[in-house]
Parts: sequence; C-alpha cells; structure tokens
Amino acid sequence: SFKAVLITKDDNGAQQVHLREMTEADLMDGDVTIAVAASSLNYKDGLAISGKAPVVRRFPMIPGIDLAGTVMRSAHPAWREGDRVILNGFGVGETHYGGLAERARVNGDWLVPLPDGFTEAQAMALGTAGYTAMLCVMALERHGISPDRGPVVISGAAGGVGSVAVGLLAELGYEVTASTGRLETHDYLRELGASDIIHREELSGDGKPLAKERWAGGIDVAGGRTLANMLSATRYGGAVAACGLAESMGLPANVAPFILRGVSLLGVDSVMAPVSLRLEAWRRLENLTDRSKLASVSTTIPLGMAIESAPQIVAGNVRGRLVVETG
Ligand code: NAP
Repeated sequence: SFKAVLITKDDNGAQQVHLREMTEADLMDGDVTIAVAASSLNYKDGLAISGKAPVVRRFPMIPGIDLAGTVMRSAHPAWREGDRVILNGFGVGETHYGGLAERARVNGDWLVPLPDGFTEAQAMALGTAGYTAMLCVMALERHGISPDRGPVVISGAAGGVGSVAVGLLAELGYEVTASTGRLETHDYLRELGASDIIHREELSGDGKPLAKERWAGGIDVAGGRTLANMLSATRYGGAVAACGLAESMGLPANVAPFILRGVSLLGVDSVMAPVSLRLEAWRRLENLTDRSKLASVSTTIPLGMAIESAPQIVAGNVRGRLVVETG
C-alpha cells in the first residue's frame, strides 16, 4: 500500500481531504505506473485542496498537478522500468489521480523525461509553476522581446511562477522589475536578480487607458486590474505573457495599448501544451536554472503537510515554491 492525499465529497456535497493508505488497485487506468519521488504545491493545488475553486472535476480525487519519479511498470512504447520522468498538467489532479501520492498510474503520452541535470526534488522545486514561467519567457522571446528592448515586469514576483520568472529573466540578461505585495520579500527578490521592486498596489489601481511607457514586456500571474495596467504601461511593440488569475479572472482593460502602441497579449497555458514545447521548456530550465537560486526559492514539506499548506498558498502567503516529498 502507499500514502496519498485524497479529496472526497460527502452526501451533502461537502469536501473532505485526508491522508489515506491506498493500494495500486485503487489507481485509475493508465499504461505507466510511477513511484513518485516528489510533487509540488501549486496555486491550483491550493484551490483544489481548499475547495476554493472547482479545479477537481471528479471525486474522489488525488490532487497534485505535477510529479517526478521513476517508472515501475510500463506498457507504453516510450517508457521502460527505471526511466526517470516528469508530468505537468494534462488534467492530472483534476480529472485523473495526481501527484500528491507515493504512486501514480498515468497515460505515458503525458510524460517527459526528467532532464539528467535535475534531481526529482529540483524538478519539482521548479514544478508546474517553473515550467509555466519558462513557457512565458519563451512566449516573450517568440514575440521578439530581448534584453536590449528594455526592462520587463513580473507580477506576483514572490510567488512560485513569479520567483522562477525573476531568476530566469535575470539569468538571460534582462533588467527585471519585480512587483510584490510583500515588503519582507525584497531582499529575496534582489538575490534572485530583480533590479527594481515595486509595490503590487502600483499596478492594481484604476489606471489610465494608456500610461507612461515603462516596460518592453511583462509576465503576469494576477489578471484583473494588474494585467490591464501592465498592458497600458507596455512600450511600443511590446508584449505581456498572461498565465494567471491570482487577483481576478476579469480583465478590465481597453484596446488603446493594442491599437495605439501595437502591444500584444500573449496567452500561456501549461496544462495542454504540446510535448514539443514541454521538452524545449525543460531543456532550457535545465541549462538556465541557477541551482543555488533554486534552493533559495524552494521549501520542502512532507506529503501530509500539503493539506494544511493549501489555504496558505491561496492566501498568497507562500514564498517561492513548496516541494512535496513523496518518496
Ligand atoms: P503562488 O505561488 O501562490 O503565487 C501567486 C502570487 O501572486 C502570490 O504569491 C502574490 O505574490 C501574488 N498575488 C496574490 N494575490 C494577488 C492580488 N490580489 N493581486 C496581485 N498579485 C497577487 O501561485 P503560482 O503557483 O505561482 O501561480 C500563480 C498564478 O498562475 C495562479 O493564478 C495560477 O493558477 C497560475 N498558473 C497558471 C498556469 C497556466 O498554465 N496558465 C500554470 C501555473 C500557474 P506577491 O506576494 O509577490 O505579490
């Protein structure tokens, strides 16, 4: 048997979350069985476990949108016993039993190889948040945003996606403005490579249709007014990569930045991203990630603590990334 976090619903529709003993027979169908070594707690896992948003589409559910581990058994042509693998998204932790367990059984098409340069714990210190940060950086690059075009801004900079994005963009030579609501994270953000730090409130006010042109590009995890204000302060021809809704699902924006400055809004999704993009993102993370920065970004917790940490991440109280030890 193995341990797993399990979300159930009782007859009244109330959600409960427990650490449970399960057996492999309890797992869902799939052609690859994995001994999970590490998972992580992402914002979405916080929503799933706390029940704050309908992330979980099927009950009971093992949450956990990512995992890293070793293949125990495989009927999939691409994978063999002993292969080290990573999984991000594809509905895992939403419609298919996820990573917050010592075992997982999944569709082999969802897996990518764990890069040789990472341990399972390091891969999950990046996790879905870090892989999404890389997808955002790649989206900006595809749009032609380079360090010589000017500074870039990152919202929710002290969170998971934000922390990794600050480190990656600094590593690539960008001048990084970090936006955070937490004063106590300023030293941390400077160590990750931020050259300028602004308060979250500077981006969350009513704002103007067009503001002073400040940044060549941006990565946004907040949505809402923050995203609208980032767009209106983007320089001519620049772009903002949007991946999150930590402030709001809404977008109270106007078209002025698009039609008067040629600004672009680049949508980033990690869940259904094609494998080719995943392979590129993980290869670049392997080469770009400063391992000591990665250590300073991450905190390791045992499986059982994922449950009590869920409300913390939803409240925006978690700094950087939470790695969940499952092995
Ligand atoms: P996280 O670690 O909780 O980080 C979110 C950060 O957002 C917080 O730490 C906080 O940073 C900031 N924040 C919180 N409330 C805010 C508000 N009202 N206004 C502005 N900023 C606020 O979460 P994460 O795992 O990095 O995920 C970040 C977002 O990206 C989430 O919405 C998540 O769902 C989304 N996401 C999307 C994808 C995708 O595929 N599109 C993938 C991964 C994540 P400060 O304290 O520094 O201000």
